[in-house]
Amino acid sequence: MSGNLLLINGRIKTMDPENPLVEAVAIRDGIVVAVGSNAEAKAATAPKHETIDLNGRTATPGLNDAHAHPRLVGMALDDLVISTPPVNTVAEIVAMVDEAAERRAPGSWIIGRGYDQARLSDQRHPTRADLDPVSPDHPVLLFRACHHIGVANSAALSLAGIDRHTPDPDGGQIDRDEDGEPTGVVRETALTLVQEAIADPTQDDLEGYIARGLRAFLASGVTSTVEAGIRRPEELRAYQALWRRGELPARSYLMMIIEETLDELIELGIQTGLGDPMLRIGPAKLFSDGSIGGRTARMRKPYEGQPENVGLWMQDPDVMTALVKKAHSAGFQVGIHAIGDAAIDLILDAYEAAQMSDPRPNPRHRIEHCSIVDLETIDRIARLGVVPIPGTSFLYHFRDAYVQNLGMERIRHVYGMRSYIDRGVIAAASTDAPVVPTSATIGLQTMMTRRDMDGNEVWTDESVSLDEALRAYTVNGAYASHEEHLKGTLRPGMRGDVTAFETDLDSVSADEIGQVRVDHTIIDGVIVYSR
Ligand SMILES: [Zn+2]
Repeated sequence: MSGNLLLINGRIKTMDPENPLVEAVAIRDGIVVAVGSNAEAKAATAPKHETIDLNGRTATPGLNDAHAHPRLVGMALDDLVISTPPVNTVAEIVAMVDEAAERRAPGSWIIGRGYDQARLSDQRHPTRADLDPVSPDHPVLLFRACHHIGVANSAALSLAGIDRHTPDPDGGQIDRDEDGEPTGVVRETALTLVQEAIADPTQDDLEGYIARGLRAFLASGVTSTVEAGIRRPEELRAYQALWRRGELPARSYLMMIIEETLDELIELGIQTGLGDPMLRIGPAKLFSDGSIGGRTARMRKPYEGQPENVGLWMQDPDVMTALVKKAHSAGFQVGIHAIGDAAIDLILDAYEAAQMSDPRPNPRHRIEHCSIVDLETIDRIARLGVVPIPGTSFLYHFRDAYVQNLGMERIRHVYGMRSYIDRGVIAAASTDAPVVPTSATIGLQTMMTRRDMDGNEVWTDESVSLDEALRAYTVNGAYASHEEHLKGTLRPGMRGDVTAFETDLDSVSADEIGQVRVDHTIIDGVIVYSR
């Protein structure tokens, strides 16, 4: 579907350095045909078209969230939102589970997402002892905000086959009390054991989740998303079914989790880039480590107060290096979840080795999140042409956990957009939703202020300007998916994707950008969301 649209009287930030701020844009058959004055745009517009009078408001190229989980965002709409804050105590969480158990059929799962034990007034994880009294007939699984740690009640543990005799799985941990009984807290692959006990959604369910999830991104002004993890064939089929029916709400670049499927993909000849501008096969995805909040990100040095804990490898380093080489040589862009500095070192080694043994022009291998970096690492990222995908609103939500677990010095350049820009790295903004909400403006605000939701700072010399933050959310995202010739800037010939905000962003102070709402979201010249 493509439209004819005229945007006039705006403050339109094109992200085109030759023509950065214009009044009007004309889109014809979904493609930008004129960028300039009202008169120039009107002259180029199609005879039949819609008009948006921006009346001094800001518009930008459609925003690009370079790492998110639209399917899980849609799924999470059924789940309890137990984010800390506003849910500040274990007792409040238990009350919410109690209420859900009264409403839902016995045997159905109750899922909650977003608690953070570091911010709960109890200063601890909930346990099955908290949950069991209110949920004798429902399996319950509560995810910590990072989604690397969870809490299961007894019904869920028993469905997962976990009891006092179950050994910790490789790369995971089942927390136990003094008597050796599981407390319900499960980490990394132990959490996966519980998740695997939940029945897989059908393709029909998945189509609904994906469509709902992507519509949530549209409401945040996001026209392009990256689905950071296709694991099951039903997931890929659901995306294709929506695309085939013309019902895929936003552009989707699919990361393929290759642990089990790389050989099949290679045998079929599938490579990154297959598809069209709405739906495309993206990078080969792997996981190297965990999270900072869960103290499972792999670090060069131990976590604060835990001299033995340097985090976990989610994948054996030699296996990882071999998989990278294979995927690289088969024509995949590679995108690896790496948060700790040791994990990032390993991934850079693997990318460098792959490129040395089999040079490819501009593979743009990515590091998903790429959290703990120093200036040497940033220079190495620049030299290797690697694309970091920082979680650009993580500091807003998780600053306290970062400080507690790593101290201030090691987070000196965490998601350091200033250093990335100054050292020639193209870093693309992302939310990782549903880990944090889909809001792009919170990401812009956090890049600009380096402040969390309570106003606490993290090394503000890594702050960037509004226009720099917008570049990270537009043209850099297009670059990260090899699509900067199609989108990310507004100039003739580009796709007609536009985000129109409720006000002139330059008139808003940096610490209020996150409150600015999106008025219209436009894909291929069609208004796909209006407030
Ligand atoms: Zn993710």
